[in-house]
Amino acid sequence: MLLKASGQDLEANVNFIMNQNYKDFLKNFDLKLENYFNSHKKHIHCIIGCSSCCEKGDYPLSQIELEYVMQGYIKLDNDIKKMVQNNIKSFTRGEKCPFLIQNQCSIYPYRPIVCRVHGLAYLCNDNKVKVPYCVNFNKNYSDCYNNGEITINPVLENLDTPNVLKDFDYGEIRNLYDWIKIKTL
Ligand code: SF4
Repeated sequence: MLLKASGQDLEANVNFIMNQNYKDFLKNFDLKLENYFNSHKKHIHCIIGCSSCCEKGDYPLSQIELEYVMQGYIKLDNDIKKMVQNNIKSFTRGEKCPFLIQNQCSIYPYRPIVCRVHGLAYLCNDNKVKVPYCVNFNKNYSDCYNNGEITINPVLENLDTPNVLKDFDYGEIRNLYDWIKIKTL
């Protein structure tokens, strides 16, 4: 007997397929990023425990990324969830990301694109090179930075979120603070 799917079932199926596509895409994207980081490894100083890129910023992310972040949050242990919730209560625009717990990202496999690409210098739309701001703290690319520019070739791909997700119906992009005002964890 053919069962007629309800509107909710259909929506759940579409979400499932979308999610699977996004997960598959991330697997390949992470491999590509690994190559980019390796090709610049002389100039990269990212180490476990350095969380300066999670301590100040707007953390812009799209709807599809937010849904994935929420999946990561749901899987956290209750104690960590409580810590994230407390962070959210005191979260101020532009300040430390509430998912940062003990200097580590609590939802690391689920983190947004902007967090995945952070640390790399890459070419943007208008031929400008985006350099991670930790260059100013003697970190990434500080050894090849002069007068506001790097003296090596950047990654020759625009790693801004709209470009990275151009094949997805990724929805709106908002800063994390603005999403949190809309959604309640
Ligand atoms: S989501 Fe994770 S990686 Fe991204 S800013 Fe927050 S703590 Fe850092």
